[in-house]
Amino acid sequence: MQAISDILKYLPSGMLTALFLNGTLITLTYFLFWKKFKNQLRNYKIQIKQRVNNKQIAHELKNAVTTIIVGSSFSAVVIYLSSKGYTKIYSNFSEHSPWFAITGFFMLLVLDDTWFYWCHRLLHHPKIFRYVHLEHHRSIDVNPFTSLSFFWIEPFLLTVWIFPVAFFIPIYAPVLGVVQLWGLLDNIKSHLGYEIYPANFNKGWLRFLTTSTHHNMHHSKFNGNYGVHFRIWDRLLGTEFEDYEKVFNEIQQRKKIKPKIESQGAH
Ligand SMILES: [Zn+2]
Ligand SMILES: [Zn+2]
Repeated sequence: MQAISDILKYLPSGMLTALFLNGTLITLTYFLFWKKFKNQLRNYKIQIKQRVNNKQIAHELKNAVTTIIVGSSFSAVVIYLSSKGYTKIYSNFSEHSPWFAITGFFMLLVLDDTWFYWCHRLLHHPKIFRYVHLEHHRSIDVNPFTSLSFFWIEPFLLTVWIFPVAFFIPIYAPVLGVVQLWGLLDNIKSHLGYEIYPANFNKGWLRFLTTSTHHNMHHSKFNGNYGVHFRIWDRLLGTEFEDYEKVFNEIQQRKKIKPKIESQGAH
């Protein structure tokens, strides 16, 4: 009973932080891309035919509430277990070699991406899909609010990997925070609805990273492009859509055309 009341103590501040961080970033991004600069960025839009309506946004907001509640409860449990010394999460930098912190960052990103890829593929299994992941796929033309639109158990399934890892491998707490922030920004980027990366993005080393077009195609075409941070698993297992780079390049060509902006209030 003591454990539950301790966990509940961490919950309100965690929930408020999650609400503030997610709410501010997502609402601001939505406002800038989908409202304020909508006309100027018309040719940056990935799906030309606009299908997002207020009904979709309202549905996504409703799902976002449960996602934030489940996500914060999960964080409260991790904080509680760490406070009792059950995990190897540490906040004193000198406790381990600095390499632990630096390599830890990349290790966590790769683990997160690997877990996401396999879990995501499992959630697409025909026998399971409609029970959990269908909710996220109700949004076909995605927007920043889609990044939190999940059936309640999905945010838990996608992040539960942290338990075994935190029990066995020392993780520098701020590194875990940076990885979480990376995840949040990558999630918004994936559901932006606009391609903001430059034309040469898929040419150099950066080509290992996913773009907004990459995940957008997962929503419009469904069975492919399962990765979240990196393209590596999709490339290795042949699940990347064959026309992904072609679509990305077509959008880049389109972006070169300056849209005509109707002058508002002109005589
Ligand atoms: Zn999916
Ligand atoms: Zn998505």
